[in-house]
Order: sequence, then C-alpha cells, then structure tokens
Amino acid sequence: MKRIAALAVVFTLLCCCAPADSPLPTASFFAMNTTMSIQLDGDEALLRGAENVVCSLERKLSVTDPSSELFAINSRGEGEVSPDTAELLKFALDICEKTDGALDISIYPVLRAWGFTTDGDYRVPDGDELADLLALVDYTKVDVSEGTVTLAEGMQLDLGAVGKGFAGDRVVEYLRENGVKSALLNLGGNVQALGSKPNGSPWTVAVADPLNGGYLGTLEVSDRAVVTSGGYERRFELDGATYHHIIDPSDGRPAASGLVSVTVVAEDGVLCDALSTAFFVMGLDRASEYWRAHGGFEAIFLTDDGGLYVTSGLEGSFTAQGSYGAALTVIR
Ligand code: ADP
Ligand code: MG
Repeated sequence: MKRIAALAVVFTLLCCCAPADSPLPTASFFAMNTTMSIQLDGDEALLRGAENVVCSLERKLSVTDPSSELFAINSRGEGEVSPDTAELLKFALDICEKTDGALDISIYPVLRAWGFTTDGDYRVPDGDELADLLALVDYTKVDVSEGTVTLAEGMQLDLGAVGKGFAGDRVVEYLRENGVKSALLNLGGNVQALGSKPNGSPWTVAVADPLNGGYLGTLEVSDRAVVTSGGYERRFELDGATYHHIIDPSDGRPAASGLVSVTVVAEDGVLCDALSTAFFVMGLDRASEYWRAHGGFEAIFLTDDGGLYVTSGLEGSFTAQGSYGAALTVIR
C-alpha cells in the first residue's frame, strides 16, 4: 500500500526577524487511519482537546470498529445514530444526489471486494461479481430520520470520503469556541486553516504534484479548507496494472476520468472532502459544470496529460510552480 500525503504545508513560520512568527505549539497523532497534525496560536492544552474531538468522531464513524455507530448499522441494516453521525450522513447524501451518484456512500460492498478496507488483501473482482455488488449500491435507499438510519437489504455504508473533512470542521469549531484565532490543521492531507497566521498574513499551503513530485503550486489561504483527492494516495499493482481506492459507482471500478488529482478549496472541510472525491470520479468537464452551477467553492484539477486547471476564484491566491505557470488554464 502506498500512502502519499496529498498536500504539504509550507511552514513559513521561521522568519527570524518577526517575533510573532516563532514556532507554534504543535501536536501530531494517528487517527482515522492517517497521520494528523495541528498547530495553534494559543493554549497548548487545546491540542489534546482537538485530538479528542477527532477521536470521538472516529469512534462513531469508523467502518471497522465493532463498537462504532456505522459498524452497527452495517451489521444490522439499521441503527440509532448520534446527532453528529446523522448530520454527516444527511450532508453526504445531499452531495450524493447533487453529484448524481458520483459520490455514493453505499459503495462499501464494492470497496471491500477490491480489498481496500483490509490492508494487503487486494484483488481484482470480475465483472459478474461487480455487477452483483453494484446492485447493493444506491444512496437513495438510505433513510435517515429521527436519529435512526435504515438501509435496504445487503447495503453497507462507508464515510471514508467525508469523515476527515467533517472532523476538520469540528476541530476548527472547538478551537474557535475556545478563543483561538489562528491555527493550521493537516488531517492526513486535508489542510484546514483557522484565521490567518499569527502575524496576520495568510497561511501558505502547497499542493502536491503527483506526476513529477514536488508541487503544482502554492495557495494563500485564511479560514479555508484545502482538500485533495487522488488515485495516487492508496493503490495496489497487479500484473502490471495499477488500481486505486476511489471507485466509480457507475461500473464499480477505480475511477478513470482523466484526472490525477482534484483539490477543493472552501470554508467547510466536509464540502471540500465530499466534492474532491466526487470530482475525481466525474472528471474535469462535469466538475467544471458543477462549479458553474453551484459555486461556493474553488478547485484545482491536474489531468493525466499534465494539464493544470484552476477555477477563476483562485486567480489571486494560487501561484503555479515552475513550468505549470505556462500550462495553467483558468476555468470561468
Ligand atoms: P482520502 O480519504 O484517501 O484522502 P478521499 O476523501 O477521496 O481520499 O476518500 C476516499 C475514500 O472514500 C475511499 O477510501 C473509500 O473509503 C471512499 N470512496 C471511494 N470511492 C467512493 C465513492 N465513489 N463515493 C463515496 N465514497 C467513496
Ligand atoms: Mg473526500
């Protein structure tokens, strides 16, 4: 299994001439199957509180923890859920509908068949097996009402596409409530900025270049989440072919839309997380149409032939790196 952080944070905090730029209290921990780090301008004790926010969500949303709410629903076909889980499910189902099923949180039976939930047991299911499993995939058959979730026979849910973004939003909310005005989270490649840097300038976030290594460019952000999805993040190779973990619900196979990575920038991490996964399935044209129709976010797309596309709202804040400057197309 290969896991490469989708985004790297450029720490421009070490400028020696500005006392306000001294290193901030930072915590790193492992949660939601990935490495997370949080730095904040404030009371160091809040780092532990922030970690607890993530871990308590993980205990509800984990698809593999037998004591989680999601595990109970998947085993019995129904179950009671906490307000957190109900809120995330309703939000995710709304994006499933808006993306016409490119995001489908009931993809779990297919994901399991490929081995993406059990590290190392990767395999390539044949067409008949995928057809049988796809009959179980249909987000419209998930019912969330009055704290109870009900699934159609044989269905199973997975919130892997949205959980980290939701957790990021909850951490930002927790820190804000506790008086923090400046913080930066990196939850397994989901970067989320609370406010600006302590000296008032925006945070600088670098967007990784999975084709050539290094960076596609840098983004200047304040109060924004920056979330990337890419097929290069988790994948396996078999008989010379590569298979990755973002599944196209229309055929049950790893999405092959011509995109290498999609980065979504918006105030809410959960929106970024849901859309970056969906756009990776939809491809550049459908995703651009979605942006024109809905708005409320910006995006950066890297195509497998090396094309870099950026929505117009990022024109002032994204700086392409090296030769990507000349190759950049602005989506309007
Ligand atoms: P990562 O979590 O690796 O940063 P994503 O946010 O794109 O990346 O989420 C990928 C995860 O979402 C997969 O590991 C799987 O759990 C789940 N998933 C894969 N394909 C889909 C899909 N079409 N709709 C909803 N969830 C998906
Ligand atoms: Mg996602």
